[in-house]
Amino acid sequence: MTDQPRNVVIIGSGPAGLTAGVYAGRADLKPLMIEGIEAGGQLMLTTEVENYPGFIDGIMGPELMERMRKQAARFGTEFITDNVTKVDLSRSPFQITTSDQTFTARSVIISTGASAKMLGVPGEKELLGHGVSTCATCDGFFFKEQELLVVGGGDSAMEEAIFLTKFASKVTLVHRRNSFRASKIMQERALNHPKIEVVWDSVLTEIFGNGKVAGARLKNVKTGEESELAAGGVFVAVGHTPNTKLFEDQLELSGGYIVVKGHDTQTSVPGVFAAGDVVDFRYRQAITAAGMGCMAAIDAERYVESLGTH
Ligand code: NAP
Repeated sequence: MTDQPRNVVIIGSGPAGLTAGVYAGRADLKPLMIEGIEAGGQLMLTTEVENYPGFIDGIMGPELMERMRKQAARFGTEFITDNVTKVDLSRSPFQITTSDQTFTARSVIISTGASAKMLGVPGEKELLGHGVSTCATCDGFFFKEQELLVVGGGDSAMEEAIFLTKFASKVTLVHRRNSFRASKIMQERALNHPKIEVVWDSVLTEIFGNGKVAGARLKNVKTGEESELAAGGVFVAVGHTPNTKLFEDQLELSGGYIVVKGHDTQTSVPGVFAAGDVVDFRYRQAITAAGMGCMAAIDAERYVESLGTH
């Protein structure tokens, strides 16, 4: 165990966490970031990012994260590359335990993100970022005039499919049942769209392509019939899992996401703040996560100041 409580420990190193590092560093809080073994968050799994302001010609996801990390380090953020295995938020200073150390902290910023659920079929992992995507807003632009597949039957799948019609020549929604779970209004928008077709009762069994998606193999779960569909891209929209396992029973969660108060980043425990996709299931963008990271650092700074020990 380290003796002195840190002013702020940031858990998670996506855009939210690293932006919190920049701001908390500049506030002279000497933040400690526990960045996790798979540091950098979901942007490490993307290729080109064209909608992050300031990069006129776009930037590769991993490079953007590397730049954010260096910027946070420049202002004094200290990094530990390890997974947090346990937290105790029941009393202050809070305790954060990694595989071999325990840190104490006056404030904590949680930015552990969310993971897109994947299908787990052959080809999916290999072609992720090469035609397989989990974010139409991020990647749709790269698929102009192509035929695309969207997998899922919830609001996300409807939203992705509708968004993709701006670029694609045709969008095929593949759903494993014969009715959608999405809200009525979203279903109607998708079903009435001239560019969207639906393949019901079907699952993908494989995504294929040579270095780039060329199509997918489908199976009708009722008849067992198999078929192939040519596609330049496959958008997997079967939900997200917020990374909150560590905080169950310690923080108020809703649907697995951390609940924050109003427009604040304050969680149900004073001194514990949360930012990015671990809170936000609505916007899920790098820039909104970064914005929340900034808010969390300012909130943490004010909180630590209010303790009068900084
Ligand atoms: P969701 O509602 O959980 O829907 C996930 C969909 O993926 C379901 O249709 C599910 O099929 C399907 N699915 C799950 N695992 C699958 C697998 N392994 N293979 C094939 N299909 C699979 O997730 P979501 O659409 O991301 O929405 C999450 C929450 O955010 C919801 O509360 C939603 O209303 C909200 N949201 C709202 C908006 C909006 O209002 N504009 C936009 C996006 C999200 P089954 O139906 O058979 O289970």
